[in-house]
Amino acid sequence: MEREKVTGVVIRERPAGDNDKLLTLLTAEHGKMIVTGKGVRSLKNKNMASTQMFCFSSFVITKNRGGFYHIYESDLLESFFGLRRDLVPLSLATYVCDVVDHCSVEDSGDVPLLRLLLNTLYAISSAKKPYVQIKGAFEMRCASVCGLAPDLDGCSVCGIGDAPMYYLDVLGGVAVCADCMSNRKLDDAVEREMSGEWTRPLVQLSPELLLILRHLVECDISRLLAFALPEQLEHDYQTACERYLLHHLGRGFDTLDFYKQITKM
Ligand SMILES: [Zn+2]
Repeated sequence: MEREKVTGVVIRERPAGDNDKLLTLLTAEHGKMIVTGKGVRSLKNKNMASTQMFCFSSFVITKNRGGFYHIYESDLLESFFGLRRDLVPLSLATYVCDVVDHCSVEDSGDVPLLRLLLNTLYAISSAKKPYVQIKGAFEMRCASVCGLAPDLDGCSVCGIGDAPMYYLDVLGGVAVCADCMSNRKLDDAVEREMSGEWTRPLVQLSPELLLILRHLVECDISRLLAFALPEQLEHDYQTACERYLLHHLGRGFDTLDFYKQITKM
């Protein structure tokens, strides 16, 4: 049997058999991997601690003749213990892992997505920034990592970079200034979308918020949360980031609904 070392985060876990688990990992080496942890639900198992949900661990894995991966041994690198502080960080981290599971692919290393995941889990766990700021930053950067970043270099119609107000056209992935927006004939598809509250594709962006979103898309990942989010921008910020990501992924997430329910967003 081949043995290989990989590092990654447990983004999903399901019980299997009496004491086993089926784990989904996001790894630097192979992107998403489904692996079996034999006996890891037993407290006595040496791999128990490093195979918990959210854990960042190094794994020695074996591949059997059927092509299935098994954990041979593992070392815990980071448990993000603070995520288990209460239900709010726990449910936000669960939503983040759900999105990452949806966006990642097997057999393709994905270091940018793994770095975003690690940074986000660390931020939620340490709680040095408000959850609303962390959630939006994750969502917008995740869209960018997936090649879905909006073009936020001023107005996409007239090019103006210092308009007093912009709109994020979620559908088109561009910013449009208020003047161009009022002159623009919205097509049927946009009008249909606008009739539904959840998918309303236009979000108001003050110039300050436009700069923040551009930062989320373009900055070095280590500086992702290095900005202040004024309270009066929070609502538009979270609306823009969440709608943008969900619209372009073409789906919602039960784990997001649950998070919003307990935080009454
Ligand atoms: Zn314009």
